[in-house]
Amino acid sequence: MTETFVSHLECSMTGQRYEAGVVQGLSEVGRPLLVRYDLERLGASVDKTSIAASSAPGFWRYAPFLPVTQAENRVSLGEVVTPLIPLANSTARLGAEPGKALVKDEGRLPTGSFKARGLCLAVSMAKELGLDHLAIPTNGNAGAAMAAYARRAGQKGTVLCPADTPDINIREIRQQGMDVWVVNGLINDCGKIVGAGKEAVGWFDVSTLKEPYRVEGKKTMGLELAEQLGWTLPDVIFYPTGGGTGLIGMWKAFHELKEIGWIDGPLPRMVAVQAEGCAPIVKAWEAGEEHAPLWEDAHTVAAGIRVPVAIGDFLIIRAVRESGGFAMALPDDAIMAARDHVAKEDGLLLCPEGAATVEAYRRALAEGLVRPGDRAVLYNCATGLKYPMAAVDQTLDKDAEIDFSRFT
Ligand SMILES: *Cc1c(COP(=O)(O)O)cnc(C)c1O
Repeated sequence: MTETFVSHLECSMTGQRYEAGVVQGLSEVGRPLLVRYDLERLGASVDKTSIAASSAPGFWRYAPFLPVTQAENRVSLGEVVTPLIPLANSTARLGAEPGKALVKDEGRLPTGSFKARGLCLAVSMAKELGLDHLAIPTNGNAGAAMAAYARRAGQKGTVLCPADTPDINIREIRQQGMDVWVVNGLINDCGKIVGAGKEAVGWFDVSTLKEPYRVEGKKTMGLELAEQLGWTLPDVIFYPTGGGTGLIGMWKAFHELKEIGWIDGPLPRMVAVQAEGCAPIVKAWEAGEEHAPLWEDAHTVAAGIRVPVAIGDFLIIRAVRESGGFAMALPDDAIMAARDHVAKEDGLLLCPEGAATVEAYRRALAEGLVRPGDRAVLYNCATGLKYPMAAVDQTLDKDAEIDFSRFT
């Protein structure tokens, strides 16, 4: 038995308490349940030095802040602490001071995306609670991470993808042993089928925020960031927002760290970045609303943020508002241009969603929403290698005379 500091689960909307240690989905009012900890006891039992001394892989170093009670239920595929890489050559074009913009490169995690954090926790807790068949609607990366971790844990799974999910993700999911289906709709349509299958087949639904543990995994982004920056936080965080688990999770992490006294001072401004073709959170934030109605005809190259409706909408918007942050939507062509520039100038191949944070940062600097001297963290949520790249049409004939003047 590892020591765990979980006290209970709590409805994120009403505050109603729920029992931990048993299978739970949404609260009675159909909203996410959040894990609450006895932070006083945690703070008295764990210190920064013991975290620093941990030899656990990647985010498992934060096990005291996580809900898994039995160490043998930690399902691991070699998680790593992801690097913070300063933008260098591209800062001039962005209008930033060199060294102030740090890319948190989450593409280095197992399955090549930060979905590994959330699904690793969801699968580990499913193991702990004896669940053996998980189901998920996905735009690609969540399904891939679920597949890898569930197979590792010996669990079965069913994955439903919208028709325009990147093909590589669909293949990746099947290659990792999951039953994968392509649905002629969007992720929320897939989610409805998963919801119905809970009753019909007995699936356990691991959709974004519909079980309490994926957000705990995503929370480790905030813990890790704080530790990497010497238990300080940046001034501003740009987060590509789909279902918003990561933004909500980091905000939760910062509050937990503050409550146990490991950080002080103001928390970072949280910026929710979306694509113009699917920007429900930006629209609601601009209108001063807390809830974001379904976005019709959602489309964007940044598949990971093509989420027309989010069950945690109010949690995203509250974090943005409380932090003094903002929300911004970007056109696809500007996102892809930013991806190009950062790859060519700084050698960092971002995913489109990660590139969206760079473009949002550039615009925010230009509009005076952030200052060039602000320390900014930009999330690159997946490896750029999973996304289409332009074809190369230059060829050389080994048998002909080579014209070396062609090489620039
Ligand atoms: C899932 C995903 C996102 C959005 O993350 P949320 O925390 O669910 O908002 C962004 N980018 C990529 C590549 C993703 O896979």
